[in-house]
Amino acid sequence: MALKYCQGPDCHTYTTQDRLKGMKGSKTFQTRRRSRLLFDEFCDTRCYNDWFATYGTQAVDHFGRLKEVKHLTEENAWVKDYDYNYRDQTNPKSNYRSVNKITKEQRPLTESQYDDSTYTLNER
Ligand SMILES: [Zn+2]
Repeated sequence: MALKYCQGPDCHTYTTQDRLKGMKGSKTFQTRRRSRLLFDEFCDTRCYNDWFATYGTQAVDHFGRLKEVKHLTEENAWVKDYDYNYRDQTNPKSNYRSVNKITKEQRPLTESQYDDSTYTLNER
Protein backbone atom coordinates (compact mmCIF):
# COMPACT_ATOMS: atom_id res chain seq x y z
CA MET A 1 0.00 0.00 0.00
CA ALA A 2 1.35 3.41 -0.97
CA LEU A 3 2.34 5.69 1.85
CA LYS A 4 1.10 9.25 1.89
CA TYR A 5 2.78 12.22 3.49
CA CYS A 6 1.23 14.00 6.43
CA GLN A 7 0.33 17.50 5.27
CA GLY A 8 0.99 19.10 8.66
CA PRO A 9 3.35 22.02 8.01
CA ASP A 10 5.32 21.33 11.20
CA CYS A 11 5.10 17.53 11.28
CA HIS A 12 8.88 17.18 10.87
CA THR A 13 9.55 19.47 13.84
CA TYR A 14 7.88 17.19 16.37
CA THR A 15 10.79 15.19 17.71
CA THR A 16 9.30 11.75 18.23
CA GLN A 17 11.47 8.66 17.74
CA ASP A 18 9.34 7.42 14.82
CA ARG A 19 10.14 10.62 12.89
CA LEU A 20 13.91 10.23 13.38
CA LYS A 21 15.27 8.50 10.27
CA GLY A 22 18.42 8.08 8.28
CA MET A 23 21.90 6.69 8.71
CA LYS A 24 23.99 7.40 11.76
CA GLY A 25 25.58 10.82 11.34
CA SER A 26 22.91 12.01 8.93
CA LYS A 27 19.70 11.42 10.87
CA THR A 28 16.83 13.87 10.43
CA PHE A 29 13.37 14.28 11.87
CA GLN A 30 11.04 13.68 8.94
CA THR A 31 7.43 14.23 7.97
CA ARG A 32 5.41 11.13 8.85
CA ARG A 33 4.30 8.79 6.09
CA ARG A 34 1.27 6.59 6.62
CA SER A 35 -1.02 4.33 4.60
CA ARG A 36 -3.95 5.77 6.58
CA LEU A 37 -4.22 9.38 7.64
CA LEU A 38 -6.72 11.47 9.58
CA PHE A 39 -9.08 13.02 6.96
CA ASP A 40 -6.77 11.30 4.49
CA GLU A 41 -4.19 14.06 5.02
CA PHE A 42 -2.82 14.22 8.57
CA CYS A 43 -0.95 11.86 10.91
CA ASP A 44 -2.73 13.22 14.01
CA THR A 45 -4.96 16.01 15.30
CA ARG A 46 -1.98 18.25 16.11
CA CYS A 47 -0.89 18.25 12.46
CA TYR A 48 -4.52 18.76 11.38
CA ASN A 49 -4.83 21.76 13.72
CA ASP A 50 -1.48 23.15 12.55
CA TRP A 51 -2.64 22.98 8.95
CA PHE A 52 -5.91 24.73 9.69
CA ALA A 53 -4.20 27.43 11.77
CA THR A 54 -1.81 28.06 8.85
CA TYR A 55 -4.12 27.65 5.85
CA GLY A 56 -7.73 27.67 7.12
CA THR A 57 -8.54 31.27 6.20
CA GLN A 58 -7.01 30.84 2.74
CA ALA A 59 -8.99 27.63 2.26
CA VAL A 60 -12.28 29.26 3.27
CA ASP A 61 -11.59 32.20 0.96
CA HIS A 62 -10.73 29.80 -1.86
CA PHE A 63 -13.78 27.53 -1.55
CA GLY A 64 -16.27 30.23 -0.67
CA ARG A 65 -16.75 32.27 2.45
CA LEU A 66 -20.22 32.33 3.99
CA LYS A 67 -21.38 35.95 3.87
CA GLU A 68 -24.91 35.71 5.21
CA VAL A 69 -26.87 33.71 7.75
CA LYS A 70 -28.18 30.35 6.55
CA HIS A 71 -31.67 29.29 7.63
CA LEU A 72 -33.00 25.86 8.47
CA THR A 73 -36.73 26.37 7.86
CA GLU A 74 -39.70 24.41 9.22
CA GLU A 75 -39.99 22.63 5.86
CA ASN A 76 -36.54 21.12 6.36
CA ALA A 77 -36.38 20.71 10.12
CA TRP A 78 -37.66 17.11 10.21
CA VAL A 79 -35.47 14.50 11.89
CA LYS A 80 -36.15 10.87 12.62
CA ASP A 81 -36.52 9.84 16.22
CA TYR A 82 -36.84 6.60 18.09
CA ASP A 83 -37.61 5.97 21.72
CA TYR A 84 -35.35 3.18 22.90
CA ASN A 85 -37.30 2.86 26.14
CA TYR A 86 -40.69 2.60 24.46
CA ARG A 87 -42.83 -0.01 26.24
CA ASP A 88 -46.26 0.16 24.63
CA GLN A 89 -46.49 -3.42 23.34
CA THR A 90 -50.02 -2.79 22.04
CA ASN A 91 -48.62 -0.43 19.44
CA PRO A 92 -44.94 -1.31 19.01
CA LYS A 93 -44.47 0.57 15.73
CA SER A 94 -45.52 3.94 17.06
CA ASN A 95 -42.15 4.57 18.66
CA TYR A 96 -40.73 5.52 15.24
CA ARG A 97 -41.51 9.09 14.33
CA SER A 98 -40.46 12.21 12.48
CA VAL A 99 -40.06 15.23 14.72
CA ASN A 100 -39.95 18.79 13.48
CA LYS A 101 -37.19 20.54 15.43
CA ILE A 102 -38.89 23.94 15.02
CA THR A 103 -42.62 23.25 15.43
CA LYS A 104 -42.14 20.14 17.64
CA GLU A 105 -44.83 18.41 15.55
CA GLN A 106 -44.49 14.63 15.50
CA ARG A 107 -45.62 12.27 12.75
CA PRO A 108 -45.49 8.48 12.96
CA LEU A 109 -43.03 6.51 10.83
CA THR A 110 -43.10 2.87 9.88
CA GLU A 111 -40.03 0.87 10.74
CA SER A 112 -39.08 0.63 7.05
CA GLN A 113 -39.42 4.40 6.61
CA TYR A 114 -37.24 4.85 9.67
CA ASP A 115 -34.60 2.50 8.26
CA ASP A 116 -34.71 4.02 4.75
CA SER A 117 -31.94 6.62 4.67
CA THR A 118 -33.54 8.30 1.64
CA TYR A 119 -36.96 8.74 3.28
CA THR A 120 -37.53 12.20 4.68
CA LEU A 121 -40.30 14.73 5.20
CA ASN A 122 -37.85 17.50 4.36
CA GLU A 123 -38.52 19.29 1.08
CA ARG A 124 -34.96 19.24 -0.13
ZN1 LIG B 1 1.99 14.92 10.89
